[in-house]
Amino acid sequence: MSVSPRVAAAQPRHTTRIVRVGPVAIGAGAPIVVQSMTNTDTADHVSTAIQIAQLARAGSELVRITVNNDEAAKAVPRIREQLLRMGVEVPLIGDFHYNGHTLLADNPACAEVLDKYRINPGNVGQGAKRGTQFAQIVEKACQYGKPVRIGVNWGSLDPSVLARMMDANAARAEPWEAGAVMREALVVSALESARLAETLGLGADRIILSAKVSSVQDLIAVYRDMASRCDYPLHLGLTEAGMGSKGIVASTAALGVLLQEGIGDTIRVSLTPEPGGARTQEVVVAQEILQSMGLRAFTPMVTACPGCGRTTSSFFQELAQSVQHYVREKMPSWRERYDGVENLTLAVMGCVVNGPGESKHANIGISLPGTGETPAAPVFIDGEKAVTLRGDNIAAEFQAILDNYVATRYSAKRPGN
Ligand code: SF4
Repeated sequence: MSVSPRVAAAQPRHTTRIVRVGPVAIGAGAPIVVQSMTNTDTADHVSTAIQIAQLARAGSELVRITVNNDEAAKAVPRIREQLLRMGVEVPLIGDFHYNGHTLLADNPACAEVLDKYRINPGNVGQGAKRGTQFAQIVEKACQYGKPVRIGVNWGSLDPSVLARMMDANAARAEPWEAGAVMREALVVSALESARLAETLGLGADRIILSAKVSSVQDLIAVYRDMASRCDYPLHLGLTEAGMGSKGIVASTAALGVLLQEGIGDTIRVSLTPEPGGARTQEVVVAQEILQSMGLRAFTPMVTACPGCGRTTSSFFQELAQSVQHYVREKMPSWRERYDGVENLTLAVMGCVVNGPGESKHANIGISLPGTGETPAAPVFIDGEKAVTLRGDNIAAEFQAILDNYVATRYSAKRPGN
């Protein structure tokens, strides 16, 4: 028996704090925020603005861009201007490594325009410089009133923290295994950096933490530990998740466990795009994780059976796919016009075995004829059989029913909503 995702409730969120990134709230009580990152050369402000707009229109509520050199820092205000001309107001996060202190000091317009800074404590400078350069970035965040994500990554873990943890481990009567020491170092690096930022004057309400690894079990262990040891909102993501189904499955497995436990306030799915693939896939996957768990709604959900030997042709698969594409295509304009349309549920079913039953549970469902069944496709609207479609135009007629349902059942948004 399946359980409706709307019934499955996650635990209360681990944090009591809210951090504001531009107009977007992250943390306790706020919806879990979807974010993404560009892969264009930031210095190419036109290409970067176009990709940010694509990500935002796909539903990314924050977009991160790398700010890796002076050209990139100088491009940031131009990116913002270009986005405003395109009617896109998504908050921008600057990702800084190695030279962030210099770039922010030399480019005040960049420091001002960004809505949040991301610092990696392992890449902020070595030895004595680390503290100084970290402090310089935090001072800029304080000066411009920006929140900061302190984002630790096991691929660039601060070596001084790891060495300290290994020394402490060697002194234990029963030393931990190496993986546990590494996980402890990740958490300690994030927590110590956050406390240092607070002593430098950055309010706790301007700090978000992350500690990313690429193994599902390590990520779950690290975030459970971090959530138990602090009250900062957490940015959740499996780093270097990979390509295609591997990246999607690994991210979903890790994020699903943690989100269900109330851990994670903003998520990013780090997928490697296939050559020529859309960068926006990471946004779609992040939304689908949250929506499948019943934590948020973004786009009408299409329930489709897997098909089996009872389905007669590929028509059933084609219809399920075309309905899914159609709602995604329409969603940007529906979202602007109709309140609550993201909660719409659809069912496309392959035969009479489960078709009518599942269709009745959806707002609109269609049950196609299986092998040996009468060539007719009953359509159910809000649980009642409304019409039976026949012939060659079933797809177009079903779309028209869908359009009509949306236009008549969801109230038009008032201007300014
Ligand atoms: S609904 Fe029918 S076609 Fe779809 S999987 Fe079940 S038996 Fe097969």
